[in-house]
Amino acid sequence: MKVENMQAGQGLDLPVRNQLFIGGRFVDAESGETLPTLNPHDNSVITEVAMAGPADVDKAIKAARAALPKWSRMAAMDRGHLLLKLADAIDAHAEELARLESLDTGHPLRDTLALDAPRTAVTFRYFGGMADKLEGTVIPVEEGFLNYMLREPVGIVGQVVPWNFPLMFTSWKMGPALAAGNCVVLKPAELTPLTTLRIAELMSEVGFPDGVVNIVPGLGSVAGQYLAEHEEVAKIAFTGSTATGKRIVQASSGNLKKLQLELGGKGANIVFGDANLDAAVNGAAYAIFHNQGQACIAGSRLVLHESIADEFLERFIKLAGSLRVGDPLNLDTEMGPLTSRQQRDRVLSYCDVAREEGGQILLGGKAPADPALADGCYVEPTVVVADPASRVSQEEVFGPFVTVTRFSTDEQALAIANGTQYGLGGGLWTRDLQRAHKFAQSMKSGMVWINCYKRVNPASPFGGVGMSGYGREMGFEAMREYTQVKSVWVNVDANMRPYYAR
Ligand code: NAD
Repeated sequence: MKVENMQAGQGLDLPVRNQLFIGGRFVDAESGETLPTLNPHDNSVITEVAMAGPADVDKAIKAARAALPKWSRMAAMDRGHLLLKLADAIDAHAEELARLESLDTGHPLRDTLALDAPRTAVTFRYFGGMADKLEGTVIPVEEGFLNYMLREPVGIVGQVVPWNFPLMFTSWKMGPALAAGNCVVLKPAELTPLTTLRIAELMSEVGFPDGVVNIVPGLGSVAGQYLAEHEEVAKIAFTGSTATGKRIVQASSGNLKKLQLELGGKGANIVFGDANLDAAVNGAAYAIFHNQGQACIAGSRLVLHESIADEFLERFIKLAGSLRVGDPLNLDTEMGPLTSRQQRDRVLSYCDVAREEGGQILLGGKAPADPALADGCYVEPTVVVADPASRVSQEEVFGPFVTVTRFSTDEQALAIANGTQYGLGGGLWTRDLQRAHKFAQSMKSGMVWINCYKRVNPASPFGGVGMSGYGREMGFEAMREYTQVKSVWVNVDANMRPYYAR
């Protein structure tokens, strides 16, 4: 594959790709239009990235269509082998990918090095191993017939992802889709296309055939919408806001696409009176401040038993106030900037909403005073006492912003936890086993964490209920999502009595 137009990443010696990736080649958009991607630490332009329009999405779909027959019929083990080679290549380029991710998203380097880059490799590796494990079944039907079920790829899959974990999302989305034999057209978020483009290049280098994967950075309202409407796209796998998810449902109706929607969340994190407070304080801080709270599964609502609330808050605020906020490329930094100025403004506007609603801001609620951070998209860790029915307790803020509410009975805690439109992830901290399992059963949530929070593993199903969407990523569930079932009937009785016996 020929690589054109490579720029150095801001003196960091990073390979920055800034074109569309279609049919195994980096190409400019047909229109020649570009969109800048910024470093959220200081809002400087990293590079201008080609911006796909409908004509480019058509080209990507054409490339995927050409690649599909061979790819979908390739031995599953061989597809898996390519994914394993990709995982090795990601490990070999882990530091470079981690730096590029931190530069483009603001996610601290200590996390992208320790979590995002290795987890991306692990997830591709998991699905590489999974490719030849997804078996059909033989179904016990009436005598004289053999009935078996095939799992076939759905075809051309459109994937639309947000900006909070773009590197990891390449593996969450493309891993199972490719293992199952589909071809992919993926649209990264406008704000963070760089690691996705680099992964596409690594795919090409390890031998993925041209057209199996196509990357079309561009506007959601243009390239994303067009992909969601496209008659040749058999499925859309989407991660993003609930509002956009609804638009995709409407756009997909033309050809009744299969849909998988990973939408917003407002995770409750319940701390009972018998909890190990050291673990709960630390876990609750990670749950909301990791990646500056820009996680759909963030523990953004603290629900505290009245017997420990004061002590918990004292310790939690001390820890939150001590987090080192700064340049994400500095290895000491524990909290970087939000990914965009728009997102910073959105979070700060929720601080105003909290004040207007009579919430009590215990910590933060503003941008840091440090002049070195003045040009960036920073917000201080923010802790707000708020009514469970208030807007800040109901709406997804998607930032380092946690609401606090108290309860006295288990029934109250459950009502608060289940009292939003969302149902993605939630946690509880208790030493009482019966209570823990009772809550695990009763919480309206796709994932429950007991005495931990935000655990994710490629083998464990990930997804939500209610307005958090439907479908599951990870594990066998993800492979099932990327296949369709065919039931095959075989007459094995040569002497079977004909229906119209004459
Ligand atoms: P968003 O919905 O605005 O954008 C997500 C993606 O959709 C982007 O690539 C965007 O370009 C694209 N898009 C926008 N309009 C579109 C349209 N009309 N048709 C097709 N595509 C379109 O979300 P965001 O602000 O980028 O991300 C934050 C949101 O994502 C939060 O609400 C968060 O909870 C959610 N999220 C959910 C999960 C999950 O797994 N459940 C994970 C991460 C983020």
